[in-house]
Amino acid sequence: MSDETTTKTETMEFKAEVKQLLDIVINSLYTDREIFLRELISNAADALEKLRYVRITEKEARDSELPLEITIEVNDKDKTISICDTGIGMTREELVENLGTIAHSGSKAFLRHLSETGQRDVNLIGQFGVGFYSAFMVADRVQLFTRSYQTDSQGYRWVSDGVGNYSIDAEDGLSRGTKIVLELKEEAAEFDSPDTIKRIIKRYSGFVPFPIMLGEEKVNDIQAIWTLNKNEITEEDYTGFYKYIANAFDEPMYRLHFSADAPLSINALLFVPASNYEKYGFGKTEPGVNLYSRKVLIQQHAEGLLPEWLRFLKGVVDSEEIPLNISRETMQDSALMAKLRRVITGRFLKYLGEQARNDQEKYIKFWETFGIFLKEGATSDFQHRNDLAPLLRFESSQSESGKYVSLDEYLDRIIENQNNIYFINGPNRQVIEAGPYLEAFRTRGIEVIYTHEPIDDFVLNNLGEYKGKKLVSADQSELDLPGVEKNEQNQEEKLDSLVIANLTTWLQQLLGDKVSEVRESTRLVDSPAVLINLDSYMTGTMQRVMQMVNKDTASLGRKALEINPRHKLIKGLAELRAKDEDFARLAAEQLYDNALISAGLIDDPRDMVDRMYRIMERAIAQEK
Ligand code: ADP
Ligand code: MG
Repeated sequence: MSDETTTKTETMEFKAEVKQLLDIVINSLYTDREIFLRELISNAADALEKLRYVRITEKEARDSELPLEITIEVNDKDKTISICDTGIGMTREELVENLGTIAHSGSKAFLRHLSETGQRDVNLIGQFGVGFYSAFMVADRVQLFTRSYQTDSQGYRWVSDGVGNYSIDAEDGLSRGTKIVLELKEEAAEFDSPDTIKRIIKRYSGFVPFPIMLGEEKVNDIQAIWTLNKNEITEEDYTGFYKYIANAFDEPMYRLHFSADAPLSINALLFVPASNYEKYGFGKTEPGVNLYSRKVLIQQHAEGLLPEWLRFLKGVVDSEEIPLNISRETMQDSALMAKLRRVITGRFLKYLGEQARNDQEKYIKFWETFGIFLKEGATSDFQHRNDLAPLLRFESSQSESGKYVSLDEYLDRIIENQNNIYFINGPNRQVIEAGPYLEAFRTRGIEVIYTHEPIDDFVLNNLGEYKGKKLVSADQSELDLPGVEKNEQNQEEKLDSLVIANLTTWLQQLLGDKVSEVRESTRLVDSPAVLINLDSYMTGTMQRVMQMVNKDTASLGRKALEINPRHKLIKGLAELRAKDEDFARLAAEQLYDNALISAGLIDDPRDMVDRMYRIMERAIAQEK
């Protein structure tokens, strides 16, 4: 026996999060209250899909003669609405688990969002796996009768007024499935009219793949739209289906409908939504594409059907090659799934490439919303890394602020003898452009990609190269830059090489362990000094990440301080050493700290402030 018969009524408490959610749902007035029906119908449809699957994979299910459908009754005398399905039903344990707790990961963040926004966005409820509770927007009491499809199951009645508790007792005489009876609140009386209910069903639930009966009438047309020809489907159909499948209110940003025969037979209909809820702090998005085989739902929100970084996609993949009776666990890591994943991902990336070419402005909107997922793919998915590279966008020294370039556009502008693609990380354009790292590139007219997010450096390092050009961080030691005409460089006379040698040795001694090397710079034009990374794995971002973990500068990789032998300050420093070594030392330490600041690496400026005062004292004294 999976369910023991209990005759007594048992009262139980909702889990704390559920209480909080219900409190918001009950005590607020919503303009979008009608979505409760969409949520309950969507649950009924899910239960029917599950039953359809069970009927194929298991030998028996209770009440097998019952048609798979949803029946809605409106009673304007009692002021009730009931939604009844012949789906999978629930056992007692499932009742407690599914309707008394919140299992989904994003729902806590959703709850926080509701309280922060003054509950405006309650209509997102279905996206966060808590749609059932929307029943309490319109009902002051909800009764739910359910009986599991399992042949030896007992039926139950679940009742709650949404305030703190619910009760469960055994109920005899039920047939398979679930019936939900809503006792309407006084201020929700408008929902006791069949016409209103019909309008709401048509509005939100037109794509439910089971008949929805209102009295004698079937209110929806059932079609597996992804199996139809494109010319049989209207824009409204597509959008309606998207809203149904994604529990969404917005219009999708992109849509890809395709079928393939080889290497696998596939019908797929994929949508990119308008918003990225992960960006708003709703926690990790759960996969949103459902797996079907010949119109039978094999798995909702199928894990492993797409790579994880495509979790923002919504839609349907139908492949008749998926055997119906395979267990979901084995399927997830099967070779067939891997093949499916590769084909669909490849097709989707190709589609994105087309979109990027055809409508750049729209693609940039996509990039700004979902680019972070593509970056995640480029760092984590070896298989698709190279196909993702042309889809990446960055700011650069050649783009206007807030505009983007692609790696291909960069290659179009590459100069003669330029062997690498260069990038530099900084919190924003102003900081990067004020720093010393760009000088060598500016004089040569070489474009540099600006990376602002820490992940950007990891993406580019991970790619390693693009179309035969290495991706190199501009603060590296070995830049391999094409030569530059003398007259384009700083015109100032250079220090004598013996003087330089003495100065670098002195600086090396003075700075000790702080740098591995002090040397003459060939890259600097306007700045006196710059800190260069000698280890090629170490990029600006890496350094800052390491610095957060470990205060020890040695962990930041080997560094060279390069000095500009044409700069007034360096020349002055060489002279000052002979006249006033103490002050020269002060100036040299400050030179090093300034280079650290330009590299974004100063974390305790107290020593420096003190030193600055001493330097200022000297400067002021000299003016007197
Ligand atoms: P979600 O549908 O996103 O899981 P809901 O709050 O709408 O979140 O529903 C919670 C759970 O309750 C469902 O996952 C399902 O297991 C169960 N449930 C709700 N309605 C039904 C129903 N009509 N038949 C069977 N199970 C249901
Ligand atoms: Mg639901």
